[in-house]
Amino acid sequence: MPQDIKLYNTKSKSVDNFIPIIEKEVGIYSCGPTVYHYAHIGNLRSYVFADILRRTFVYAGYKVNHIINITDVGHMVGDGDDGQDKLEKGAAREGKNVWEVAKMYTDAFMKDIEALNIPTSAYTFPRATDHIREQIGLISALEIEGYAYRISDGIYFDTSKYKKYADFAHLDIEGLRSGARVEENTEKRNITDFALWKLSPADEERQMEWDSPWGKGFPGWHIECSAMSMKYLGETFDIHTGGIDHIPVHHTNEIAQSECATGKTYANYWMHVNFLNDTTGKMSKSNDDFLTLDVLKEKGYSPLAYRYYLLTTHYKSEISFSFDGLDGSIHAYNKLTTWCSSNISSAGKINNEYKNKFEEVIFNDLNTPQAIALIWILLKDEAISDDDKYSTIISFDEILGLNLKNSVKEELVISEEIKVLLEARALARTNSNYQESDRLRDEILSLGYIVKDGKEGQEISVSR
Ligand code: AMP
Ligand code: ZN
Repeated sequence: MPQDIKLYNTKSKSVDNFIPIIEKEVGIYSCGPTVYHYAHIGNLRSYVFADILRRTFVYAGYKVNHIINITDVGHMVGDGDDGQDKLEKGAAREGKNVWEVAKMYTDAFMKDIEALNIPTSAYTFPRATDHIREQIGLISALEIEGYAYRISDGIYFDTSKYKKYADFAHLDIEGLRSGARVEENTEKRNITDFALWKLSPADEERQMEWDSPWGKGFPGWHIECSAMSMKYLGETFDIHTGGIDHIPVHHTNEIAQSECATGKTYANYWMHVNFLNDTTGKMSKSNDDFLTLDVLKEKGYSPLAYRYYLLTTHYKSEISFSFDGLDGSIHAYNKLTTWCSSNISSAGKINNEYKNKFEEVIFNDLNTPQAIALIWILLKDEAISDDDKYSTIISFDEILGLNLKNSVKEELVISEEIKVLLEARALARTNSNYQESDRLRDEILSLGYIVKDGKEGQEISVSR
């Protein structure tokens, strides 16, 4: 029986035993992509992390309701809800309308995560623009309770009315005030106040705008996540995730507005994934110069090898991305898939000792690097049969998601040419013509397949 799942909670600043609201069920909300550009490989790290979290709960027998939202409006270029809407920025860059841009990059995102073995069918992906009514409802509730006020460009949340505002991220409000930029919106009552609803500029028609009790406009980015998470998971739900950049602003604001609107705790556990940075610093969509999964693919790196690479670092540690580092992981990943494809078996049993060790590290705040290290220890363990090793590794892969079983199956579709060579080799062996059989083995190897002679005749696997 699996032990407790322990997770690091940003809210308590400690690794806590996970206690679900409903027994054996978990609701998870992961902040999703702003679809004005391709996801970069840093963004994708946050979804691989979310997928490991989901798979861990599925493995432990939980019913999982996992939401990843699509931000397709209201995420402004400037930190203080100022500047351009990122979707409009994307539309200007592409020469398309915002709806087309949102669709194009949502589709690209789905393709990327599928390639990383994050199954889209296991998630719900609500779009912000499909939830305007819910967002208006939430803002109205805040207005009635006296948390919202109007200034010339929109309806803002008064952060001074939420006494715990600074707690979650240990904010130094005084420091923020003194460090404020000159162009900061001077109508705001407090430096940390944020837009709930932005009004469309009087002199310009926005491509995305809706009627509201306050006038034509569009929702603020933070309210989107509060409205969608509570709609799909309830006013209090289990786990909220995102990148560490979201702690001081986006998540702090989500907590403030949600708890003020409902009077209840918003999310019980908050998990944050550290950044993947390139050598020049933070990888970011806004500077246009970033690595995508497609670029990795063009360079010959498979998305699953990238997933393996990510899993070799704990989610709470930063990754400083380099191709040299990636190459090291690729080598190990190829060795692992080669071993798996050469040792396919349905005869083995999951080894309990290793299963327990695996659960111990994974259930201890998702320690994937230790789980991967354990695979290599297992492979070297001479006391365990290859059949058992195979079954045990495939069971670990339910959480790691490296598709070790299926990628093998896929690649074992062999061409007619190989089949002819295999038949010729079988004939050579029946005639004890070992020289010819060895020559054919080398020829097959040169075409990318390894032939071994087992009890049932020739066994073929992919060479890498
Ligand atoms: P965005 O599409 O920019 O709204 O971000 C989507 C997710 O990626 C958020 O959870 C961010 O916190 C996260 N994120 C952004 N940049 C990085 C990075 N360089 N490494 C890891 N996660 C990131
Ligand atoms: Zn969010």
